[in-house]
Amino acid sequence: MKNTRTQNLMAAALVAALAFATTASRAADPLPPTGDAVEPAPRLVLQITVDQLRGDLPGRFVKNMGEGGFRYLMDHGVWYADAHHAHANTETIVGHTTLATGADPAEHGMIGNVWLDRKTGTLTYNIEDAKYHILTPGADVNKATEIDPTQKVASTDGRSPAAILGSTFSDELAIYTAGRAKIFGVSIKDRGAVSMAGHAGKAFWFSKASGEFVTSSYYYDHYPAWVNEWNQQKLPSAYSDKSWELMHDKSSYLFGDADDQPWETDFAGYGRVFPHPYGPATGKYFTTRLTLSPVGDDLTLSFAKMLIDAEQLGQHEVTDYLSVSFSSTDYVGHLFGPSSLEAEDNLLRLDRTLADLFAYVEKRVGLKNVLIVLSADHGAPEAPGYLNSLGIPAKYVTPEQWDKQPAISALKRKFGISKELIQAYRHPYVYLNREVIREKGLDQSVVEKAVVEELMKFDDVALAVSSTALREGNLPNTQIIQSALRNFNPERSGDIFVVFQQHYFINEFDGLTVAVTHGSPWRYDTFVPVVFAGGKLAAQRVYRPIETVDIAPTLAAIVGAKPPSGSRSGPLPEVLQGLTR
Ligand SMILES: [Zn+2]
Repeated sequence: MKNTRTQNLMAAALVAALAFATTASRAADPLPPTGDAVEPAPRLVLQITVDQLRGDLPGRFVKNMGEGGFRYLMDHGVWYADAHHAHANTETIVGHTTLATGADPAEHGMIGNVWLDRKTGTLTYNIEDAKYHILTPGADVNKATEIDPTQKVASTDGRSPAAILGSTFSDELAIYTAGRAKIFGVSIKDRGAVSMAGHAGKAFWFSKASGEFVTSSYYYDHYPAWVNEWNQQKLPSAYSDKSWELMHDKSSYLFGDADDQPWETDFAGYGRVFPHPYGPATGKYFTTRLTLSPVGDDLTLSFAKMLIDAEQLGQHEVTDYLSVSFSSTDYVGHLFGPSSLEAEDNLLRLDRTLADLFAYVEKRVGLKNVLIVLSADHGAPEAPGYLNSLGIPAKYVTPEQWDKQPAISALKRKFGISKELIQAYRHPYVYLNREVIREKGLDQSVVEKAVVEELMKFDDVALAVSSTALREGNLPNTQIIQSALRNFNPERSGDIFVVFQQHYFINEFDGLTVAVTHGSPWRYDTFVPVVFAGGKLAAQRVYRPIETVDIAPTLAAIVGAKPPSGSRSGPLPEVLQGLTR
């Protein structure tokens, strides 16, 4: 039985390979002109998101990069050197959904990786949806080994884009092409895949529990044959008992003599210095360690390539869309910080991964027929220890160690209550206990104001703003206030928004202490690269400030579709002009 199945699969693969050899081994011709699209419209929009890639990092390490990866983008693309996320809570789902929709979190609703559901009184994981379970049994988040604290919030294995409000670019592409466009999102992280695929596309992500790429019943009733085929290769197990080693001679790295820095995380024997062992494939944290290394990106690349072939992306009468979100930079950044030998080697390896992907797409579709856009869901702070070593003030914040009792007592006395006034604090949001406020007949805005005043007494807090103040708009027109407004969704955002001092952040990851955590509205967390390449585009470096909400409407204009429903901005003229010249 099993043999027959394997034989069938092999036969299917052979047929697919032969078909590929005759029909698609050379790059496709340009698409014929259609309506409002730029001519010729791209056969494939390839949207790459590098999780936690701060805007300055590619340039900082380019000296040791090879050809065809970041250098291809720099030498052939329109590179925006002053691009920022405009929202306050610079977390993964927030940034990805902003890239996908061109909307602010106030409109697209993904205001944080986790928020409090007011109706149920429970914390909610952004893309959790109990209705649509993961197709692979046992591929749910393993709470005993999961180190991503937001993932642990999910109480079921169900995932879907249902909580994303409004349309993504990929949705608009589906609408425009009468559903003919092939639309896919791939990532190690579920939220990195689901957000970009939108409501109309298909998403695949990596299950650390099963060591396979998975999807949910929102997308499929059963896996396409090629997904089973990829999983049956068992690529992760090839890394059993191997280690992450440096790609080049240590002396050639900017951080070559700084491998062991005291603020780096030694996660369960993974170590602070090279080589970092993955351990045996049977190890408890084996797949987790793969994601904490460039291997996570290698697996993502391999899966994406198989997808491009199996689904024949870029070989249709309409534009197709593939989103690839690479997660390793984020995990490595959290553990070691962006100024570490690990982060440096990871970026050099990501550069090779990108070169491999671009070369593959060149062969299959032709880069002249592809529009590449690369950005990041957020930037990153520096580890306080690193900044302190340079004389710059910075520190980790531990709110659970604050002396909160005087503030809590003062508030309880003031409002004559005995119950807890604060229902949840999930940074940056404080959720008030609305039941107590109602019971006591208190004015919520008065309570918010009093809590804000108490919060502002803590030295670590730079700013606390009440949602009433945001709604009424009588606040100074600063960058931080603007970003808080763009992050404010009345249903999901908390009652009080808190910002720590610059270079101050919480580094407690649900029991694990990490080197850095992003999520602030400060510029190091909002700063990301934005680059468009492919088609007729020529190298251009643009220093004009832009925002990440500009990307989705630009993609829509290129294919001739209408902008996503909540998008705030318009197309980037440098890209449109470059494509139509
Ligand atoms: Zn992160």
